[in-house]
Amino acid sequence: MTSTEAAFVIAKRVFHEELTQTEGARQLNEEFRLNINSAKIMITVYGKMMKGLEFKRALSVPDMSYYLARIMSENDSKYLPNAVEALWKHIAYYEKRNGVTLRSLRNLHSSYLAIVNGITSFNELSESFDEAVKNAMNLTEGQRKKRISQKSVIPKTKPVVVYVYERNPYVVAEVLARAKGVCERCEASAPFKRKKDGSPYLEVHHKIRLADGGEDTVTNAIALCPNCHRDLHFGEHNKALQADG
Ligand SMILES: [Zn+2]
Ligand SMILES: [Zn+2]
Repeated sequence: MTSTEAAFVIAKRVFHEELTQTEGARQLNEEFRLNINSAKIMITVYGKMMKGLEFKRALSVPDMSYYLARIMSENDSKYLPNAVEALWKHIAYYEKRNGVTLRSLRNLHSSYLAIVNGITSFNELSESFDEAVKNAMNLTEGQRKKRISQKSVIPKTKPVVVYVYERNPYVVAEVLARAKGVCERCEASAPFKRKKDGSPYLEVHHKIRLADGGEDTVTNAIALCPNCHRDLHFGEHNKALQADG
């Protein structure tokens, strides 16, 4: 567990009055070597975010981003509007006081504001599309053809928000160099060469997903041919794994 994860968990417990702020901060200090003051800030900011209130001292941008992602993923995102509002109040307060523009925090704020305002996330969009395809497969050919003729041939566009892990390019390069153009699963040569530089086309996959806490390291990564990669993500042999990255 990183100190950010621990701070989030403890801040939540303080918010639910299972711990006092002092106890929480002490625990973060002892177990995660977080400085007492920073620990207190991490706890306070969580409480303000849940209530939509201004906070004066901020978290680092990655920590802030982690908090928002967690708040979004919990309680059906019920507290996300408050959290986004609290962040905006902080930005306004801080910028006015210090005469600066908090560019990264503003970007973070706009991404989450988009979500609060009902702009679909990419995952949501692809899940509902998969569902629609599944339903369409259950229609008769006649029913399908009728529906096809009813849809415009020019597809509409839709804005979506995508969250990605910032992968380490050195890890990718190292794994590709290790593979020497051969799939590390089926040992077949890369099926084709890349248009842009003639290098063999392989994809670098994480054995334990980054989303499941996997590390972005050479040992957790493997170079795969596109077939093996799709198989690992979507193949029936591996029902426990979800597609991603
Ligand atoms: Zn392969
Ligand atoms: Zn993958």
